[in-house]
Amino acid sequence: MQRTIRFAVAVLAVGLCSGGMAQAQSTADARQVITRAAEALGGSDRIQALRTMRLRGYGHDPYQDGGSLITTEATAPEKMTIITAYERAIDLANGRTRVRAKQSRAFVFAAEAMMTGRPMDQRLDGDVAFDVAPNGAARRASREAATQRRMELLANPIVAVRAALDAASRVTNRRTEGAATLVDVTTAGNTFTLAVTTANGLPLWVRWVGPHENLGDITYRTEFSGYEPVDGVWVPMSFNTVSDWRDNVQQRLHVDRYVLDGDVGDLAAPAAVRSAAAPAPAYTVDASVVAPGVWFLSGNGGANSVLLEFEDHLSLFEVPTNRAWTAALIAKARSTVPGKPVTEAIISHHHFDHTGGLRTAIAEGLTIITQTGNVAWFEDLARRRVEAFPDALSRNPKPIKTRAVDDHLRLSDSKLTVDVYRVVSNNHMAHGLMAYVPEHRLLIQGDLFDVGWEVYFWGNTYDDNVAYRKLDVERDVPIHGRVLPIAEVHAKLAEQTRNAEQLCAKVDSVGLSMPGCPLAWND
Ligand SMILES: [Zn+2]
Repeated sequence: MQRTIRFAVAVLAVGLCSGGMAQAQSTADARQVITRAAEALGGSDRIQALRTMRLRGYGHDPYQDGGSLITTEATAPEKMTIITAYERAIDLANGRTRVRAKQSRAFVFAAEAMMTGRPMDQRLDGDVAFDVAPNGAARRASREAATQRRMELLANPIVAVRAALDAASRVTNRRTEGAATLVDVTTAGNTFTLAVTTANGLPLWVRWVGPHENLGDITYRTEFSGYEPVDGVWVPMSFNTVSDWRDNVQQRLHVDRYVLDGDVGDLAAPAAVRSAAAPAPAYTVDASVVAPGVWFLSGNGGANSVLLEFEDHLSLFEVPTNRAWTAALIAKARSTVPGKPVTEAIISHHHFDHTGGLRTAIAEGLTIITQTGNVAWFEDLARRRVEAFPDALSRNPKPIKTRAVDDHLRLSDSKLTVDVYRVVSNNHMAHGLMAYVPEHRLLIQGDLFDVGWEVYFWGNTYDDNVAYRKLDVERDVPIHGRVLPIAEVHAKLAEQTRNAEQLCAKVDSVGLSMPGCPLAWND
């Protein structure tokens, strides 16, 4: 007996010891990938001694709000943003960064500044994310923004390798994938995978997982290419960020200038920003009666929804913005008409600001009423892998229930009749739906009209749809904006269309062009 125990203890000790040794060896192997990457970039001492980095360039972001490149259903038309000027300044020693950019939307849109080039200034100081307005006012951004910006900062070969060299970081799981060697890196606040080219040790890409309202977990990968030496450091001339959703391309950035150890100014968060609480949304929904059985649900959630009361159930038109806002809308619907279940949601179109609450609606058991062309797309959204950033649907998985509308669906009982129609004549969306309540002459619509728009390039859409369906609209009930009599809609529409024409004339007068504007030589 005694001998057996001693023998077992000895075996256990040997086992532990060899396990520990194997682990130490694998950590050393993984760290060796980082050491080699540092050498390839110009040497560990050189890159560790860098104090600042500034890179300037241009690029594009072909992926915006759920409109995208590919021609599969529900993604057209493309919503591409051109980054006409880009600059990232990094204070490496203090973990601070600033991204300034001018971007213009290369698709027809409704805000002049976003068409002609809206300046952007986003910063990060350690854990504090903040935005600086053109007038210099700084405002703290959310915790999620800080996480995202920290990862985007790490998606740079110098920053990633320096972070991995830090003795406090964990580097593990060395493996090979084609011509690349991969390791996993865990720093104080982030986890990412770094791939280096096995042949020369240069970083190839950084991959990480982030949260997304519509998509659940989203995997990004920023690829580095075109390495050139600058002051003894090898830096990539192109950054290509792809995601694991659909066509993949998230952002393409091309560098036209690097400045190492130049002056980047003071990137520290101002004291007032640092002491301010990170904004966390606390939503309040207001339900106002539009007509018997119809409520306008609005508030601080960015977009509205409409509650429709039938004999034995309730329906919503739109589950917009994000999961938390949609949860608040559903709760408000239940408290507004107690005793009737919310059973379905009609969705105007697939853009992310109109489908941010889709996963919540599915989790709540709602049937999704959408145009036929969106069904496969919505099914994909519902099936997304969600582990790192759980939500209501991942905690309580359910298959999506859809009811497809080709051209017209009448929802009707003794209490309410609602006609759901496919949107025609629209260059903002494919596969759109709108709803009409004949008894009260209400048109419920998303993105056919918004009183807040400055310029309107598809202004004919509203009346085209009204005429095509032979509707007699008295009031407009919009997902963006507020309920208005039809005469006010027409007055505002005319003004927005005039503004668009004036913008086109202005742009044309300096020899430029813009989506939505006629070509000067062929109007
Ligand atoms: Zn839209």
